[in-house]
Amino acid sequence: MLATVIHAARDIRVEEVADPVLSTGGDAIVKVVAACVCGSDLWPYRGVTETSEPHRIGHEFVGVVEAVGPEVESVRVGDFVIAPFYVCDGTCVNCRNGVSTSCLGGGWWGSDDKVGGFADGGQGERVRVPLADGTLAVVPGPVADDEIAGLLTLSDVMGTGHHAAVSAGVTAGDTVAVVGDGAVGLCAIIAARRLGATTIIAMSRHPERQKLAREFGATHIIEERGDEGVKAVRALTDGVGADRVLECVGTKESMDQALRSTRPGGMVGYVGVPNGGPELPIGQMFGRNVGVNGGVAPVRGYIEELLPDVRSGAISPGKVFDLVLPLSEAPEAYAAMDERRATKVMLRP
Ligand SMILES: [Zn+2]
Repeated sequence: MLATVIHAARDIRVEEVADPVLSTGGDAIVKVVAACVCGSDLWPYRGVTETSEPHRIGHEFVGVVEAVGPEVESVRVGDFVIAPFYVCDGTCVNCRNGVSTSCLGGGWWGSDDKVGGFADGGQGERVRVPLADGTLAVVPGPVADDEIAGLLTLSDVMGTGHHAAVSAGVTAGDTVAVVGDGAVGLCAIIAARRLGATTIIAMSRHPERQKLAREFGATHIIEERGDEGVKAVRALTDGVGADRVLECVGTKESMDQALRSTRPGGMVGYVGVPNGGPELPIGQMFGRNVGVNGGVAPVRGYIEELLPDVRSGAISPGKVFDLVLPLSEAPEAYAAMDERRATKVMLRP
């Protein structure tokens, strides 16, 4: 079968690899219906994080179960399933505490980390899913082709945007600013509106993303960054800053923007993967009573809550996909996202 393999920075190949085989009793084989490229896949692609040896890549996929091990109980052959961007058992103390990304038996797709890593990646024709009962979320009933984009966002970006909003404590009537206009930032806008925010400020310089941000619920767009960006947020918020700010980038600049755009007593919800070293200015946070909460999003636990709204069309996160390519064109998918020609690329095997 074919799968995407990263060999080194800017060296993505679609190669023939061995078919997955059931091996643990609690695993499942999923035939991938759609996968996608994540903003975080761009870190190894750009060489920001090192690729020590070639390995499978991709951690967002949906598909149909082809086979299950004898111990699997909640997933059946033929089920349409959503896989979160990590593997988890759903039963350990961290999973029960709602932090399934820290599952004691879990790990990461396509990881070349020998501890807690699983060799298969999501950008391929098939995936062996360890801990199938804890990891996979079943989508009941028939799934129409035009539902696939929305369902695929539940494997990462929609759940991650939701985590930013939940971590910041967004509630009805809040003023929320969103830093970052990638797929996660756009989904954070959806999440903020869904949780009742009435004023939503999107920080974006891209006309097409601004358009989508407005469609998703943004009431204001701010193009400025840095001091000017902070000034613009304060101008919209009685001079004090937003109640909640969702940081969806992960750089020093974006965290600084988020902290300074938050009103005294407010909260930053952060989900941007911190590459490039944002550090927290405790003195500034102390003086203004600004909190920071968040981290890697335990999206598996959000799927059941968000799924009905995606299926009913109450929210339409699938619109973040602006390019669909066959799996064989995975290298072009990475290039398009790297060069910001596309917000989010779907790959169809
Ligand atoms: Zn667990």
